[in-house]
Amino acid sequence: MSRVDERFVRQARNEALFREVNERIAEIGEAAEAWSPDGTVEFLCECGEEGGCGARIRMSLDAYERVRSQDDRFAVKPGHETLELERAVDWTDEYVIVDKIPAAEPYVEDDPRGAPS
Ligand SMILES: [Zn+2]
Repeated sequence: MSRVDERFVRQARNEALFREVNERIAEIGEAAEAWSPDGTVEFLCECGEEGGCGARIRMSLDAYERVRSQDDRFAVKPGHETLELERAVDWTDEYVIVDKIPAAEPYVEDDPRGAPS
């Protein structure tokens, strides 16, 4: 594998890991949403930075579900997009929804829900 490929694979694995964590957050999210003053839940940025960037993004569960309905979409903090790997499809002040470019899709296929891309 080339250096670039290795980087893509590592990043994709990290993204998949944070997606797993966010799935847990979403599971308890209904309770969290009820307690939240603005009805949003705090998720982790899914940018896939090595070791995690630690940034939080606030989203409604509805918005989160829309991201998860496609297995190659991720929610990241604005500015955390990786332009070689993904393109932004939706923007808010709080988060950016990115869609994997076709070359990167094989690395993120192990979606826990098996959603279509
Ligand atoms: Zn990030």
